Amino acid sequence: MRDAAVKILAAEDNPVFQTVLRGILTKWGYEVIIAKDGNEALRALEAEDAPRLALLDWMMPGIDGVDVCRRVRAVGREPYIYILLLTARTESEDLVEGINAGADDYLTKPFNALELRARLRAGQRILELQEQLLEAREALRQEATHDGLTGLLNRRAILGLLQVELERATREKLSLAVLMADLDHFKDINDRYGHMAGDAVLRGAANRMKSSVRRYDSVGRYGGEEFLMVLPGGNGEGALSQAERLRQAVASEPFSFGGQCQTVTCSVGVTWRAAGSRCDADTLVREADLGLYAAKENGRNRVVCACIETVDVR
Ligand code: GH3
Ligand code: MG
Ligand code: MG
Ligand code: MG
Repeated sequence: MRDAAVKILAAEDNPVFQTVLRGILTKWGYEVIIAKDGNEALRALEAEDAPRLALLDWMMPGIDGVDVCRRVRAVGREPYIYILLLTARTESEDLVEGINAGADDYLTKPFNALELRARLRAGQRILELQEQLLEAREALRQEATHDGLTGLLNRRAILGLLQVELERATREKLSLAVLMADLDHFKDINDRYGHMAGDAVLRGAANRMKSSVRRYDSVGRYGGEEFLMVLPGGNGEGALSQAERLRQAVASEPFSFGGQCQTVTCSVGVTWRAAGSRCDADTLVREADLGLYAAKENGRNRVVCACIETVDVR
């Protein structure tokens, strides 16, 4: 295993030991950050790009090593910081206190350099395992909330987000708009060019929709070729022009797939709630769906607002 470029914090108040630690840790390939007391150690461990490996002297002026451990663990931030305590104490109740405070391991002074090196490597192994665990968890989260074909939020995630945004809109007295878009005559694409071509068009349309909304708007795949958009702060005029931008983004140029190309359009239903008015997610989705239905009825490739207050057909 390589120790190179791994950042390590060494907190030690004794200048002689500081020099010794800096020397051996550097020789082993670590990037060493020295803290001369507990306060400095805590600051370094709370920093943005904090070292994930820490060697803390127990006895230091101000906050001691055990207190640094306690405070680091109380925050409980991720990624995990592996802490090795250096102590002159050998009483087992002292060592129990250190471990209970959140230290992962300890070494009693005077220590053997090879033993320190082996223990630091053991710490690195734990950190690597934790990193793999975090990556696996993130991959699972991504899979559970995103649609595999388009990379958009899936139905459950976009509905969950609508619920959260609706609660926020009520709390902060903001308006909120919802758009439902459905590709027109999409079955024809599958029938004429095959399912793979259909998939390519779905991915392309999803990308165009995503690029047409503002950064704080969200797009989800609601069903097969149906998409749901949540626009926090969106109101009548704004939501209609957003829906129109989205419609144009899809229809503006043909989609290419497997050497072929074909223009595909979409129909969009729009609804919104004014700031301060109460509404539930189901009602908004139902209204946007009614708008979409009307857009299909009126000839497709168009936007229809189906707000219960104002029905504005374009
Ligand atoms: P309309 O304009 O009324 O919406 O007509 P349409 O053909 O788009 O609607 P319809 O509901 O008849 O057909 C939708 C099609 O979308 C049928 C289904 O096979 C296809 N579809 C749904 N999900 C996928 C997918 O993931 N990939 C592909 N290739 N096709 C899909
Ligand atoms: Mg000391
Ligand atoms: Mg359709
Ligand atoms: Mg459909």
